[in-house]
Amino acid sequence: MDTAAFLRHIEESFARIFSDGLCLMEYLPEDKWLALKQAGLLLPFLDEQHGGRKADQFEIQEVLRIAGHYGVPVTLRTGIEGALVLQPLQEFGNPAQIAQGLDLIFNGEGGGLAVTEPETSGAAIAREMQSFYEYRDANTVYVNAAKYWQGNSQSDFLLVAAKERKNGKLSKVINLLLVPKQYIRYEALKSEGLRAVRYAVNRIDAEMPAAQVMKLSESDTAGLRAFQNIFIRSRLQLVGMTHGIMEYIVENAEKFVRRDIKFVEYERREILRRYAVSKILYGFTCKHVSPDAPVAHQLMEANIIKTLATEFTYDAAQMLQKLLGAKGFERGHPASNIAIDFRPFTIFEGPNDMLYAEIYDQFTRATAAEKEAGVKLDKSQTLLMRLQSDNRFGTVSLPERALPDDIAAFLSRHTLGGACPLEKVFIGKVVAKLFAFVQAEADDAAAFLLKSIRKDILDCAYC
Ligand SMILES: Cc1cc2nc3c(=O)[nH]c(=O)nc-3n(C[C@H](O)[C@H](O)[C@H](O)COP(=O)(O)OP(=O)(O)OC[C@H]3O[C@@H](n4cnc5c(N)ncnc54)[C@H](O)[C@@H]3O)c2cc1C
Repeated sequence: MDTAAFLRHIEESFARIFSDGLCLMEYLPEDKWLALKQAGLLLPFLDEQHGGRKADQFEIQEVLRIAGHYGVPVTLRTGIEGALVLQPLQEFGNPAQIAQGLDLIFNGEGGGLAVTEPETSGAAIAREMQSFYEYRDANTVYVNAAKYWQGNSQSDFLLVAAKERKNGKLSKVINLLLVPKQYIRYEALKSEGLRAVRYAVNRIDAEMPAAQVMKLSESDTAGLRAFQNIFIRSRLQLVGMTHGIMEYIVENAEKFVRRDIKFVEYERREILRRYAVSKILYGFTCKHVSPDAPVAHQLMEANIIKTLATEFTYDAAQMLQKLLGAKGFERGHPASNIAIDFRPFTIFEGPNDMLYAEIYDQFTRATAAEKEAGVKLDKSQTLLMRLQSDNRFGTVSLPERALPDDIAAFLSRHTLGGACPLEKVFIGKVVAKLFAFVQAEADDAAAFLLKSIRKDILDCAYC
């Protein structure tokens, strides 16, 4: 099947499998989910050598987008199994682990990725992680892990992130373990939203075959980088989910929102402006990411896509809910649950505030390519000079998107080394939105982004 025929087939499969409706206030029915997977929903995430589709980022983005039209939990589950389980499993698993995982995904309930812990900060997880495994002998490891908020808890397995413990000491290196459900004790979590996805506190305190350990790399520093790369790729791809949900929001606004009040019309247009920005971000991933190419050099871009796509989609979801009036407060109304179900997108895969601060750091430091070329960034350089020399902006900028004087003046007032941790968050927002602005083909998206940047500049001065 070519791409167009494959995507048509996925759309038809959704329509057929959910033809008698879908209740998002209870767990997704596993038989229907399995039918979707067997119809090919996850094939774009699967390597060709394992029976998947030819590597094509557009297909990955499209299956996530199409799933978004059936609600937040449906696309989220596609993303969890595709980006957080299938892709790392194939990248880091040995043939036996891959065979075990694929069987559980395509013939069973699949799995989830377990990183976050109840007692440590998710934002600082690489440093603070306490879960560990320890070799008892060459064939056996003891695993001690407490993890929480795993999407797809209670399914067939979890890929559990843990540090190796040797002689009673935790190493810095993080690896994954493919842990089948018989080793996991779970306590289901009651969530405010996303009722259709299973979440739990997952505890493991057991010996298991050492063959379940999945080494991310043979060298320690490369291992940490490989761990980070899982999230770079999944943040870049996440815009497939958010863009699908944006379209679902726009459709619901058309269906449910009244049109005879000027202010409501204005708010509807504001939703559409956020949708226009979402298109820019979606286009970036389709054009500049590939499932079979490394993403390590795209950390800043990944953080920008993740923060902006989730911030603007969440805004749009809240606006829609408000415009529905009392209907927006009805439990289970198709358009009332989007905002509550969507809220954690601004938290997981890195809380947005933290990522904005990181965007600042990534923007003000030399990239790997610059370091290789011997470029050193002088800390007294202004942010404007940096913007003009940064190739990540240069390669995507459209000639018509010149910077207005007031924003250029703001960037000239700040130097690379000058921001305090609080300012970093607001300047990170400015940088992220500029990255979208320079690529904006549509004038209303560009105008909206400039307005939003000016608000961030005010916040920066205020803090
Ligand atoms: C619905 C849902 C699904 C999830 N799915 C999964 C999953 O599948 N697998 C998994 O392992 N985990 C999952 N998580 C957990 C999620 O990844 C973590 O909650 C997230 O990483 C944040 O960690 P935390 O809750 O410990 O917040 P903290 O680290 O305590 O941060 C709290 C807040 O402090 C602020 N903050 C923190 N650091 C900074 C900083 N440096 N600069 C500025 N502000 C900062 C932010 O506002 C942040 O929201 C999920 C969570 C939810 C709610």
